[in-house]
Formats: sequence, structure tokens, C-alpha cells
Amino acid sequence: MVYIVVSLYTIWGGVVMELDVLLRERGYKVTPQRLAIYEVLQSCNMHPTAENIYRIISSDYPTMSLATVYKTLDLLKEAHIIQEINIGGNISRYDAMTQPHPHIICVKCNKVEDLDMQITKSLINKAKKITDYRIQNSQVYFYGLCPYCQST
Ligand SMILES: [Zn+2]
Ligand SMILES: [Zn+2]
Repeated sequence: MVYIVVSLYTIWGGVVMELDVLLRERGYKVTPQRLAIYEVLQSCNMHPTAENIYRIISSDYPTMSLATVYKTLDLLKEAHIIQEINIGGNISRYDAMTQPHPHIICVKCNKVEDLDMQITKSLINKAKKITDYRIQNSQVYFYGLCPYCQST
């Protein structure tokens, strides 16, 4: 019997949520795999790919396939519990923080980090005004060389 303890997580803005509550609220079943995948996303803020997650949890869940990881990520995305980010190329990365927030990406080591900044209402309103769009979502990315790659 494997017990997975999902503790309370503090996410952006100090809101505390538990995955099992989030899943049940949205009518999804809570399974150990779903909790495990979410836990990886919550505990590392490296914005992992599905393959990264698969590698991290495959020792604890040797029977779980990469396809299951993809399916679970799709489900969590559908439930708005995680978000998918695409930084170019065709590899998706996943983020447990669903509120819009900017990312900064190293073009050398491909590290993706959160930027502790808000995508401001005034920026979104400006985009709305210029284009007359009803804005649904926004992604802001900065690209550059991280301090480590600058020194190597
Ligand atoms: Zn770097
Ligand atoms: Zn992020």
C-alpha cells in the first residue's frame, strides 16, 4: 500500500490549495498517479516536460507509462490545475502555477524560471484597446543568458 501525502501548498498570492480538493471540486477522480505528477510539478519549479516528470517518478511508479503521464497532464490542464507552456520548438513544459506570470528562459541551458512579477492589468488593457480583442490569456517570455551560462 502506497500512501501519498499531499501537503498544503502555498501558491502565488498566498492561496493554499490541495490537489485532492481541486480534483474533486471539478468532478475528477483522485488517483495516486495524478497526485504524484502534480507533486513533481509543485515541488520543482523547473517547468518540467512530460519526459522529465516520467523520469522523476518512474522509480516510484515503475508500471506507469509515458502515455499515462501525458494523459494525466492533459487532464490536469483541462481542470485548470496546471498550465502548459510552450517556449518554442514543439516541446511543452508544465507549470503548477496557473495564474498568468512571466517566464525567463536561458537560451543556452534552456532553463525556464518564473519571474516574480505580475502581468499587469494595464498591459492587458492596452493590448485590448489596441486590438479590440477580448483577451483570454496572456504569456510573457524573456529570453537571455542566465548568470551561470554567462560565466561559462
Ligand atoms: Zn543558462
Ligand atoms: Zn511558471
